[in-house]
Amino acid sequence: MRVLITGGAGFIGSHLSDAYLERGDEVYVIDDLSTGSFENIAHLKTHPRFHYTIDSVHNVPVCAELVDQCDVIFHLAAAVGVKLIVESPVRTIETNVRGTEVILSLANKKKKKVLVASTSEVYGLSTEVPFREDGNLVMGATTKGRWSYACSKAIDEFLALAYWREKKLPTVVVRLFNTVGPRQTGQYGMVIPTFVRQALAGRPITVYGTGAQTRCFGYVGDVVGALMKLMDAPEAVGQVFNIGSNEEVSILEVAGRVKELTQSTSEIVFMAYDEAYEEGFEDMPRRVPDISKVSALVGFQPTEKLDGILQKVIAHHSGQ
Ligand code: UDP
Repeated sequence: MRVLITGGAGFIGSHLSDAYLERGDEVYVIDDLSTGSFENIAHLKTHPRFHYTIDSVHNVPVCAELVDQCDVIFHLAAAVGVKLIVESPVRTIETNVRGTEVILSLANKKKKKVLVASTSEVYGLSTEVPFREDGNLVMGATTKGRWSYACSKAIDEFLALAYWREKKLPTVVVRLFNTVGPRQTGQYGMVIPTFVRQALAGRPITVYGTGAQTRCFGYVGDVVGALMKLMDAPEAVGQVFNIGSNEEVSILEVAGRVKELTQSTSEIVFMAYDEAYEEGFEDMPRRVPDISKVSALVGFQPTEKLDGILQKVIAHHSGQ
């Protein structure tokens, strides 16, 4: 199979590239290296079945050629990371909406199956934990920059589903919950690489808010396995799937585990959200997926627990 991965030099995209090459497939990546990094794919550069294009998904002629060459498309190119989104809302909205429009319209010409990566962020302020795919999405005010990410991704979802309903383009939407593992950068705010780097450097570990907010951290290898299975499942078409772990943990507990596993002398410090992001910043108190839908369809079950994931991330950042 020839697989096109937009955002293939990103954290998840590069692991997906590895997995398809390992399976014997041909991989084409397009990435503008805005949040992705060449380092993530440098080890694949000379692989005979790996091809990469450093360009934006807004470049229609380049994307058209890639879409023609491939059998299936993973659309992972997007602006990600809460910090980036708060700091660059225009870029977030334009990248996420326009990029998806380009890829879906090109794929539609040749009816190539597209998997669109959305995010758990779309559940917004919903309190219906655990979140189910058919539950309500509760967006905050448009004056709060954070919600532009959720809204732009919700539009991507609507568009992907509309292409299926109206034009019979086979599309699948996945809502990725917090995904972690080696190669993820803390540069755009993601908590685990940030804590690990702080702990290894002996700098204060910065817990935002009270640290009582919870998340579930899925291992990138597990997530990539689910993406591949969904691409192979004809029944997944026209549907939305949560993907992630359901091991719920508070951010304060994460800070404690990181400190312990790195045997760090770092202090755990608290920082107000207003200071960490922007005034009036709203966080979700709990974010837990219901993963029964993806489990029932493709047998997905997370295999890695938080401690194992942290150990891998720590090893990566320690250069081991
Ligand atoms: N967080 C934190 N310290 C940091 C970075 C993040 O306490 O240095 C918190 C953040 O406020 C959120 C959680 O960790 O409650 C997860 O943040 P991340 O940006 O990784 O993902 P999110 O779930 O917010 O998309």
